[in-house]
Amino acid sequence: MNRNTSLQNGEWVTILTKKEQVFEKKKPFYISLRWILLGTYLIIGLVPLLLISSTLLYSMKGYFIEERKRELLGQANMISGQIISSDYLENDGGRDEMEETILEISQGNKYRILVLDASSVVVYDSGYEETGKTVVLPEVLEALQNKDIANEQENGSIYAAASIVDSDSTRMGVVLISDGIEDIEDILSEISSRSDTLLWGLAIGLLILMIVMSRIFTRPLLSMTKIIQRMSEGYFGERLQMNGRVHNEIVDLGIACNEMADQLDQVESTRQQFVSNVSHELKTPLSSVKVLSEAILLQEDVPKEMYVEFLHDINSEVDRMTAIINDLLTLVKLDQTEVPLNFAETSLNQLIQGIIKRMQPLAMVKDITIAYKESGEVLAQVDEVKLVLAVSNLIDNAIKYSSAEGKVEVTLEADHQNAFITVADSGIGIPEDEVGRIFDRFYRVDKTRDRETGGTGLGLSITHGTVRMHKGSIKVTSKEDEGTTIMVRIPLHQGQ
Ligand code: ADP
Repeated sequence: MNRNTSLQNGEWVTILTKKEQVFEKKKPFYISLRWILLGTYLIIGLVPLLLISSTLLYSMKGYFIEERKRELLGQANMISGQIISSDYLENDGGRDEMEETILEISQGNKYRILVLDASSVVVYDSGYEETGKTVVLPEVLEALQNKDIANEQENGSIYAAASIVDSDSTRMGVVLISDGIEDIEDILSEISSRSDTLLWGLAIGLLILMIVMSRIFTRPLLSMTKIIQRMSEGYFGERLQMNGRVHNEIVDLGIACNEMADQLDQVESTRQQFVSNVSHELKTPLSSVKVLSEAILLQEDVPKEMYVEFLHDINSEVDRMTAIINDLLTLVKLDQTEVPLNFAETSLNQLIQGIIKRMQPLAMVKDITIAYKESGEVLAQVDEVKLVLAVSNLIDNAIKYSSAEGKVEVTLEADHQNAFITVADSGIGIPEDEVGRIFDRFYRVDKTRDRETGGTGLGLSITHGTVRMHKGSIKVTSKEDEGTTIMVRIPLHQGQ
């Protein structure tokens, strides 16, 4: 398609097709709810596990090292005590025996043990490397100040130094034990590899669970979307299957969706029904007009009286069509909720009296009396024009469906919140099973009789619509061959 079009004055404009315009809009970033759920589960499920396991390993390492320090200090103190009692440092007393004992302890525990004199010179080294050398370590210096100490070194070993103090509290030297922490690290790496396996197992289990869960959540949403899309294409018969054993918010959403579909279905069929009713109602008078006019046209030398009679019939069919169209227009206006109502404080007494006055000639034709009763002045906020039409329809019906010399009674009452307008007649009444349908558009109890009375079947729909707009209600009580009473309740004040 050529997207560029020349205007008369030679200016170029670019015409975008509807689809292209849609693509011009910035497309929102699409991220499936499933991935959001999955991501959230992973973060909530795995991160705390990882944190817990690493914190646990860290504090375990701290605990093991503290234990090892305590153990080494204990050994160093024990050896220090033995050195004092054997006189090993001062007089070389029992030297071999002492050194053998130290070597045994060293080999048995895989420690390295050094004995230093008060000048930090190594007197004995179970590793035989440092004997005779001076060792200046912070731990040794601390111990010589009479404070036993054990520290972890950067090279990954632990030094524990205990002072050798004789009975006069003289600092004679230090026992220094050095030990590696490889065994602790081995244990920790064993624990860590086991916890890793456990974590992986958990992660995989969690992942499977999450996939299943997110599927459980998103699948109904996906099928809901599909069905709503079908509805937007006009297939209102589609429904979601809600026969699972679980009930949750998504099921509620599905139920609401089905209810909305029912409503749309109903609206659609009402619309179709309405259109077919309108066509049907207009078709009948139109066919009559056609038949009548053809009768005149096709006949030669039609007498004048026949012309007048047929034209009279044509005229009344046109009147009927006009009445139907006027009623339809009124109904359309009532359906438009945004149309503002002209509420104004109105005397309902005067309003009803005015209607009755206008209806009198109609009643007199059938010798019907209209009685009016009121229990005081009633002022209400109403849309006068619309309410007059609504009440007129009721009184008009009461006259129409009453036999000659009947009686119509109109009553106006009020309490402190509502006004009540009652129209009662002694007419033909409405069969019990049809009372609920008389407010439907084009509904007539007796179709043939209505054609005679000139009713359109729209009057009560208009009354109902008007009362609904005034936030009121209607009650009908009727008995066949006895009469009908229709009571309208209208609130005295219209809320904002
Ligand atoms: P219509 O223009 O045909 O009167 P309405 O909507 O006013 O249409 O009324 C619908 C139908 O309800 C009427 O056709 C009639 O059969 C029945 N109806 C209404 N009012 C009365 C009444 N007072 N007595 C008996 N039947 C009534």
